Amino acid sequence: MKPFGYTRSARASEAVGLVAARPEGSFIAGGTDLLNLMKDGAVAPDLVVDINDLPLSGVAVRDGRLRIGATARMGDVADHPVVGERFPVLSQALLASASPQVRNRATIGGNLMQRTRCWYFRDAGSPCNKREPGSGCPALKGQNRWHAIQGGSDHCIAVHPSDLAVALSALDAVVLTLGPDGPRSLPLGDFYRLPGATPDRETALRHGEMITGIEIPDSPLARSSRYLKVRDRATFEFAVVSLAAALTMKGRVVTDVRFAFGGIAPRPWRSAEAEEALRGRPLTDAAVASAARELVRGARPREHNAFKVELVQRALADILADLGGQ
Ligand code: SF4
Repeated sequence: MKPFGYTRSARASEAVGLVAARPEGSFIAGGTDLLNLMKDGAVAPDLVVDINDLPLSGVAVRDGRLRIGATARMGDVADHPVVGERFPVLSQALLASASPQVRNRATIGGNLMQRTRCWYFRDAGSPCNKREPGSGCPALKGQNRWHAIQGGSDHCIAVHPSDLAVALSALDAVVLTLGPDGPRSLPLGDFYRLPGATPDRETALRHGEMITGIEIPDSPLARSSRYLKVRDRATFEFAVVSLAAALTMKGRVVTDVRFAFGGIAPRPWRSAEAEEALRGRPLTDAAVASAARELVRGARPREHNAFKVELVQRALADILADLGGQ
């Protein structure tokens, strides 16, 4: 690991200034992903600024929105009674993530900022356009079972690993930030970038800008939400495919619906067409099949991950059967 500086700050504007002033400055809170990346040589910050002393760990509903602070621990948010009752998809996604030990340490902001588990990215001896722009993408012709079938490019097909981000995407969450130019609110749909020709740029954050919290509308949709994670083993494993869904119905007719998918794209994947195939229609097998077809339209599977095209459609049918009470 390369030598680096370390400091703590109890003032958000000071922490932002410290990171912004260094070319490779980085925030740290739980450190559960950043330290592994540093040890693997995938990232090498010259300064890490510890933000655990900032007052950003609260969880509360105010003015019709759930507000979760960036340094709230994953385990605390998962176990929060309001989250479990009114935002079940959040609680389920968090409990499906990592291990209890990691959830007790890892933060909400850090979870959103965690980096891909593409093994080429984490192996400093492999070329990787995300780690070293222009060096190539061995996953395109190599081991790509875990990689994207939607939203990838000829430069990168890595998927984003966060379960929480998928759940937040389905609930139309907003990411609150503070940067050198002041505070911003970024809809989650605008927060993550698709790789295109610049896979090293993963989010809309500017250098020195940090996540301060998340806001989620407190709505009937959020109360009727679920998370489904398909993985190779039942615990401490990343998703092969995952799905967050929220559905409201009147009788058998879908009044509103949201889906977001994990494990299939470089960011939580929304399909407006798939949602539109259900909204305002009876929840029938034919409607579900139509939504599933829309979901995988334009999919570009690779040598080892074509199975995801079928798997993600089955996951959609399963979660809709659960939410629709079939
Ligand atoms: Fe790197 Fe992306 Fe290719 Fe993985 S898929 S090797 S992260 S460029």
